[in-house]
Amino acid sequence: MVQSSVLGFPRMGKLRDLKKATEAYWGGKLSQDELLAEGKRLRLEHWNIQKQAGVDIIPSNDFAYYDHVLDHIQMFSATPERYSKHGLNALDELFAMGRGHQKDGIDVPSLEMVKWFDSNYHYVKPTLQDNQTFKLAEDPKAVRHFLEAKEAGIVTRPVLLGPVSFLHLGKADRGQTVDPISLLDKLLPAYEELLKALKKAGAETVQIDEPVLVFDLPQKTRDAFKPAYEKLAALQGEAGPQLVLATYFGDIVHNLEVVDSALQNVSAIHIDLVRNPEQLEKVIEHLGPKQVLSAGIVDGRNIWKNDLKKSIEVVETAIQKLGKERVIVATSSSLLHTPHTLASEKNLDAEVHDWFSFASEKAVEVAVIAKAVTEGPAAVKSELEANAKSMESRATSKRTNNAEVKKRQEAVTKEMHERKSAFPERYAQQKKTLNLPLFPTTTIGSFPQTKDIRVQRNKFTKGEITAEEYEKFIEKEIRDVIAVQDELDLDVYVHGEPERNDMVQYFGERLDGYVFTTHAWVQSYGSRCVRPPIIVGDVSRPAPMTVKESKYAASVSKKPMKGMLTGPITCLRWSFPRDDVHQSVQAQQLALALRDEVVDLEAAGIYVIQVDEPALREGLPLRAGSEREKYLSWAVDSFKLSTAGVRDGTQIHSHFCYSEFQDFFHAIAALDADVLSIENSKSDAKLLKVFIDEAYPRHIGPGVYDIHSPRIPSEQEIKDRLDEMLQYLKPDQLWVNPDCGLKTRQWTETKAALENMVNAAKYFRSKH
Ligand code: GLN
Ligand code: ZN
Repeated sequence: MVQSSVLGFPRMGKLRDLKKATEAYWGGKLSQDELLAEGKRLRLEHWNIQKQAGVDIIPSNDFAYYDHVLDHIQMFSATPERYSKHGLNALDELFAMGRGHQKDGIDVPSLEMVKWFDSNYHYVKPTLQDNQTFKLAEDPKAVRHFLEAKEAGIVTRPVLLGPVSFLHLGKADRGQTVDPISLLDKLLPAYEELLKALKKAGAETVQIDEPVLVFDLPQKTRDAFKPAYEKLAALQGEAGPQLVLATYFGDIVHNLEVVDSALQNVSAIHIDLVRNPEQLEKVIEHLGPKQVLSAGIVDGRNIWKNDLKKSIEVVETAIQKLGKERVIVATSSSLLHTPHTLASEKNLDAEVHDWFSFASEKAVEVAVIAKAVTEGPAAVKSELEANAKSMESRATSKRTNNAEVKKRQEAVTKEMHERKSAFPERYAQQKKTLNLPLFPTTTIGSFPQTKDIRVQRNKFTKGEITAEEYEKFIEKEIRDVIAVQDELDLDVYVHGEPERNDMVQYFGERLDGYVFTTHAWVQSYGSRCVRPPIIVGDVSRPAPMTVKESKYAASVSKKPMKGMLTGPITCLRWSFPRDDVHQSVQAQQLALALRDEVVDLEAAGIYVIQVDEPALREGLPLRAGSEREKYLSWAVDSFKLSTAGVRDGTQIHSHFCYSEFQDFFHAIAALDADVLSIENSKSDAKLLKVFIDEAYPRHIGPGVYDIHSPRIPSEQEIKDRLDEMLQYLKPDQLWVNPDCGLKTRQWTETKAALENMVNAAKYFRSKH
């Protein structure tokens, strides 16, 4: 019999219940016992959803109150002393590491949090000491949750993050020099003890995740697998559970040697066949005579209904080579990255509703595929027929295919990606049109999104005020931020983005080819969730999206007004993309829509236009090499296509929320933006050296202060920062601006910080 399995389930619950309970606990409105009870309720509910879906192998220890990597830090007693020394209870210590703790005389900032591979989930980085020790915590969470499920009549397969990935994803603490992977010998006994404890509790198999196998790994990390898995696999049988080694988000073919030498002894290997179906054959060749293949065939990263017929074919290929007993049908990765259930979506159009599948529905899909290959397709005849209909409906729908868009894409030429003249000529023109001083000052787009703005927007969405009333309100907001910018004496103004709920959703709502959900939240970090819009079909722009507000702003402003757009890659990355056409095709469609917007803005008298691409970097494929180059090539093209339609005298800006350009500087340079604003205030100004080394000819505004904190930077601090920057950038190249938009800040601190910023710029202006 072919078994079905889920690698992990979303934690938040149907209505973001966990978020609500956790935040209530943080706010002192819920007791710890109540929060723990809510966690337990959610775990049981999620296990039961999977059981009722017919899933054979259900995970436990996938649940976390904040983050699963953070749980491992605590489970192996790797909590840095600055958190452990206060005698906080386990849960509060966990939250202290995740989000900092500032209460009762304790004041510790959080541990670093970074993106989980190429997803929008963030994990807490294990932060290790030179004299690091590890010890299995008393009553470890993995065992506790296994027993909890068992008591409810569900024997689960616990999930652990493997020791090599745990260390590879970690870092030395500040002031420490330890190379995390060198701690393997110290860490392994804790894993051995945990596996033994799980076996004792009744766990027959454990899923051990080593997702770092999809990276290009340094030799030291590659070498770590062999000793690690010789030890852990040796426990299989009497002393420990069978191990299912799981990889996801990429292929492992380049690491098959490692897999060969080290992982021969684990009982099963899981691979992601959604991302990299071509690895199937190679991995099968490398399996030992008894090893089982867990085929990740139901997408854990997207919301599309599975094409059952196709999946069954893939699984059949594996079965032909391995036999039914040696194949498991699984989700490609944990379902953490998908929303809870499609059943909550009451407002979706029936046509598209039928195309989607969220976590609860995906659990059913793995079960159906497993049944089909075990008992034959007749056993799931009605499911297969319904599925084939959905596939057909999506493939042929008018929403999916827009002939006009395709025609336009065919007509895209190379020339459309290039500005009319090279930068020096453009700059000469721009000087005339814009007449800016040296060290021009500007902001990144948004001004504080006050409660009043949110209230009015809500009223408008609910129909409590008319479109006209709302428009009047937005105009007043725009006038107000312009008055503030007058007072501050900034040089290039923005309209403040009061009309935007979110930098991607706002555009999605104005484009054809998108749909929106009401409850499809996905965890981003801790209690934070995002609700990405969904690209369902060819994207086009039925009407201008931002021209009205920008034009109004320009009409009441005496200085140049900067138009503000979200770039094609950021729109793509922060949405659920289609899986039926390549992402480069979707990016080009978005680019064409934005190109029209850029040209319309220019025609409306907007001669500075910023196209934000904060997500450009996170789209980089996980491995260096040709994949990465291909991505950068179409990503850069889509930016250029969206911006190159303007005259020389119109200045194109772009903005990125990071400063690490070293590994893809050529792509940043290739964007050919007249001005780049980047986040820099918290990084070393030395990072700017790459701009001299590469003789970057255009203009740059490295952020002079951090906008994530309410702290007001002094004028002197900003001057010092600019001084440092001038070691790397020429005076006529440097813009003065904050790190990012100001929407999350309060007005008082915003005004004070910008006042200091403008004064610092003026000081340098007087010196040059
Ligand atoms: N223009 C956007 C703003 O100011 C940029 C946000 C971002 O880069 N994340 O809010
Ligand atoms: Zn930003």
